[in-house]
Amino acid sequence: MISSFDQLNRAVILSERSESKDPEGAQHAPTVRASLPHTCLTLLAVLALLFPHLTLAQKPAPTGQVSGQAVYSLTQQLLDVAPKRFNASPGHLAAESFIKQHFKPEAAKGNFETDEFTANTPLGLQTMRNFIVRYPGKKDGVIVLATHYETNFPLRNIAFVGANDGACTTALLIEIGAYFRAHPPQGYSVWLVFDDGEEAVRAWTDSDSLYGTRHLAAKWYADGTLKRIKALIVADMIGDKDLNIDQDDQSTPWLEDLLLVAAKNTGHAANIFQHSIQGLGDDHIPFKKRGVPVLDIIDLDYGPQTSAAPDGYHHTAQDTIDKISPQSLQISADLFMEMIRLINQR
Ligand code: ZN
Repeated sequence: MISSFDQLNRAVILSERSESKDPEGAQHAPTVRASLPHTCLTLLAVLALLFPHLTLAQKPAPTGQVSGQAVYSLTQQLLDVAPKRFNASPGHLAAESFIKQHFKPEAAKGNFETDEFTANTPLGLQTMRNFIVRYPGKKDGVIVLATHYETNFPLRNIAFVGANDGACTTALLIEIGAYFRAHPPQGYSVWLVFDDGEEAVRAWTDSDSLYGTRHLAAKWYADGTLKRIKALIVADMIGDKDLNIDQDDQSTPWLEDLLLVAAKNTGHAANIFQHSIQGLGDDHIPFKKRGVPVLDIIDLDYGPQTSAAPDGYHHTAQDTIDKISPQSLQISADLFMEMIRLINQR
């Protein structure tokens, strides 16, 4: 992900950071669970016995349904077989095989789709592929989770592997798929999208970026699929050891509000919305433009910013697995799973 407003984004993030120095740490709201005194817990226990239906809603959200450690290990496995994943490279093909391998059960049921298309890029025609995995639910409607899996074509000559940018999000969606394989959705269907060509082929513009999602949004508009989508949630750069999910002004407001609820419910309120970003270009935009409710779960602030690396580790050879952590991936996994639960409750 990058945007034509990147400098602006950075400026906004920096200004917010200086404002948010709060000696009391007030923005780090304590979780409901941690702040309940003992007597209150006893009272809750009594109430639970007397009015089980009333106290049910106060149960903390389940966390750890998808393991951050498993996502981390899978990220390492993906990087081992496909460190560089730029278009038409052996690593790109290896990443595609890696994704396909993990969804053999879905393929056997006809719930795995390869969406191949030709992208007209500044460097000529390129063949790209999106992968769509479907877990049918019981309610009419679909929640889509999306991530790109490739690495940047312009960075093909440096050791750029995108541990945080593409790899860990691919691993997260694979693990979320494993969860729904074992626990089929009881509400809306859940679809996973592994999209290609998110990154610019030469330099980011509206026409040189988001190839996979622009193609898919147009295709799903034409065949009526978009009308069935209740929410589309993008995972991007969600493994940073120092994780703080940004408030994104391009995401749909009710989904941003729900993310705040999800963070509180899972005890991760301290890990979101310390910074806000504006004018972000990412995989949610092609769907937003066509009226789909969208949410980008992203932490753009990645690594120390220096004059040599104004964007920190973002789009540098420093974006390696040691910069991400199982703990941060756990937070992100919990947020995704809780968002699905909350969207189903609306
Ligand atoms: Zn990127």
